[in-house]
Amino acid sequence: MMVTAATYESLMQFLYQAPIGLVQTTLAGDIEMMNPTTARLLMPLSRDGGLDNLFTALENVAPRLRHMAAAVDQPSGVVCDSLRIPLPATGGSAGSVVLSISMLKLDEARLVAVINDVTLEVQREQEGLSRTLGVAERVDKLTGLPNRFAVLERLQASMKLAAKEPGHEFALLYMNGDRFKQINDSLGYAVGDKLLSLIAERLRSTLRSRPRDGPGTLGGPLIARIGGDEFAVLLDDLKPPNNVYGVAQRLVDQLAKPYTIGTHELFCSVSMGVVLRDTASADADAVLQDASLAMAEAKRAGGMRFVLFEPGMHSRATHRASLEVDLRLALTDDQLFVVYQPVVGLQGKQSAEGIVERSAGVEALVRWQHPLRGVVPPFEFISVAEECGLIDALGEFVLRTACRQFVQWQAQLGARAPRTLAVNLSRGQLGEPGLISIVDGILRSSGMPPAQLQLEVTESLAAQGESALAKLRELKALGLTLALDDFGTGYSSLSSLHQIPVDTVKIDRSFVSKADTSLHHRVLIEATIHVAHSLGMNTVAEGIETQAQADVVRQLGADKGQGYLFSKPLLSADLVKWLEIEK
Ligand code: C2E
Ligand code: CA
Ligand code: CA
Repeated sequence: MMVTAATYESLMQFLYQAPIGLVQTTLAGDIEMMNPTTARLLMPLSRDGGLDNLFTALENVAPRLRHMAAAVDQPSGVVCDSLRIPLPATGGSAGSVVLSISMLKLDEARLVAVINDVTLEVQREQEGLSRTLGVAERVDKLTGLPNRFAVLERLQASMKLAAKEPGHEFALLYMNGDRFKQINDSLGYAVGDKLLSLIAERLRSTLRSRPRDGPGTLGGPLIARIGGDEFAVLLDDLKPPNNVYGVAQRLVDQLAKPYTIGTHELFCSVSMGVVLRDTASADADAVLQDASLAMAEAKRAGGMRFVLFEPGMHSRATHRASLEVDLRLALTDDQLFVVYQPVVGLQGKQSAEGIVERSAGVEALVRWQHPLRGVVPPFEFISVAEECGLIDALGEFVLRTACRQFVQWQAQLGARAPRTLAVNLSRGQLGEPGLISIVDGILRSSGMPPAQLQLEVTESLAAQGESALAKLRELKALGLTLALDDFGTGYSSLSSLHQIPVDTVKIDRSFVSKADTSLHHRVLIEATIHVAHSLGMNTVAEGIETQAQADVVRQLGADKGQGYLFSKPLLSADLVKWLEIEK
C-alpha cells in the first residue's frame, strides 16, 4: 500500500482513537508517544499526575517489566506477551481493574507496548471457573450423581415453589444400603466402590423407565448420592394423581436384585424413608433429616422396604436415644438377665393318656430390668443395640450367661436337664469379624458341649448372600447347630431352603397362631415341614398358645413346639421347678 499523507493521517487518527493503549518509549521507558487510551489506563498509577516513564508508572504493579525489557539483548524481540497486571483496588470501585500489556523491542532504541483493559475478560473467566467449580461441588465423583448440596438446593427450590403453588407436590426418597458395610469390609473398597456405581446406575435406569406423573415443573427426578451408601431421589414433578408409593416400591424392588461384580453375586437391598410435601418441615436440611429418620425405621423393620415419615418419629427417636444411653449402663450395671423358654418334643412316646410332651430344650431370651422403666421388652432394645454397636457385647453376654447356666443345669439336674440350648444371633453379630473366635472362646471357657448349642439366625440374615452363608458354615464347623428363626416372615422361600446350612426350621408364630383356623396357613405349615424333612432338617412350631394349635402342628409333623401353652420364658430357678412338674 502506498502511504500517502492522507492515509498516514487516517492511520494516526485510528491509532490515536483506538480503544487500546499504544505507547512508544525509549529503552529506558521514557515515553515518546502515547494515545489517550494509554493515558486513561495508566493515569490511576501516576503518583504526581504526570506520565513520563512507563516503567516508573508500573513500578509498583509490574516491577519486573524494566528487567524483562533490559534482558532482551537482541536488537529486537518480544519483551512480554499479554502480561496481566492487576491494579490495586481504588476505594469505591467494585473489583480491581486488570491490565494486559504486550511489549516489543522495536529496535536498538525503542520499545512499543500495547495495553488493554482486560477486567471484564478476567471476570468472565473467573465466573466460568467458579461455574465449573460449582458443578464439581455439587457432583459426587464416584458415581457422577449430584450430591447432598445439590439435593438441598433443589429441595429448597421445590419447597419455595410449593409455598407459592398449592398444587405443586414433591417427595424426597432417602435410601441406605442394607448391608453395604459388610460387603465393603469383607470384599474391599474396590468392590464397594463398584457396587455404589452399580446402585447409581440402577437408580437411573429404574427412574428412566418411570411412567410420567405429569408435565415436569423443575425437570425430571433428581437422583443423588448424599453420603457413603446413602442415595436420595427428589420427585418434584408430581402432579395429581401421583404415585409416590409406586415409585418407592419399584426402587426398593429393583435395588433388591443381585449385582454381579467379577465372580461375586452381591445383594444390597435398601431401606428407604419417604417425606411427602404434607409432612415436610420448612427447612430443606430438616426434611433430609426426617427422611433419614423414616429410613432408620425401615431398617429396623428388617430393611428392603420404605417407610413414610410421620412427625411422631421425632419423639420415638428421642426415646431411642435415651434408651441407647441407658443401655450402655445396663451392660456394665448388671441390669440385663436371661430367661429360658422350654422347647418341647411334639412327637413323643405314647402313654395311656395320649402323647406325652417331653422337654427337649430351652431358648435363651434376654431381658432388661430398667431401674425406672421396669422390664423393657427385647424388641425395643435389640434394634437400639444393633444401631449403636452394643449388639456384640449384648450377644456375648447372653451367650456366655446361657452357656454357663446350661452347664450348671447339667451338673445339678443330670438327665432332667434341658438337652439343647438355643441362643439368638442378631443381624449385626453375623457381620462381626470376631464372631467365630468369640463363640469358640465361650464354648471352651464355659465347658458347653458344642453339639448341644443351637444358634438361631433370621431368614433375612441367612438370605444375604455368599459371605453370610460362609460365616454360617464356619459357625457349624465349631460343632454347633443352626436354626432358621421366624421362618415364613422373611423373603427366602421354601425353594431356597436347601441353600441355607441350617439344621432346624422354626415356623413363625404368625403361621402357627392360625394353624387351627386357616386352611391356607395349615397348608403352608405342612409344606414347610415336608420340605424341611426332605432336606434332613427338623422343625419347631413357635408361639403355640392353645391345645388346638398344638394338635394341628403335631399332626402336620412338626418335631417340636414352643409357646405359652407349654410355658412362658422363665428364670432359671422357675425353669428348674417347671422341669420337676413336667417329669
Ligand atoms: P424370637 O427369637 O422369635 O423369640 C420368641 C419370642 O416369642 C419371645 O419374645 C417369646 O417370649 C415370644 N413367645 C414365645 N411363645 C409365645 C406365645 O405362645 N405367644 C406369644 N405371643 N409370644 C410368644 P421375646 O422374648 O420378647 O423376644 C422377642 C424377640 O427378641 C425374639 O424373637 C428375638 O428375635 C429377640 N431376642 C430376644 N432375646 C434375644 C437375644 O438374647 N439376642 C438376640 N439377638 N435377640 C433376642
Ligand atoms: Ca428365636
Ligand atoms: Ca422366632
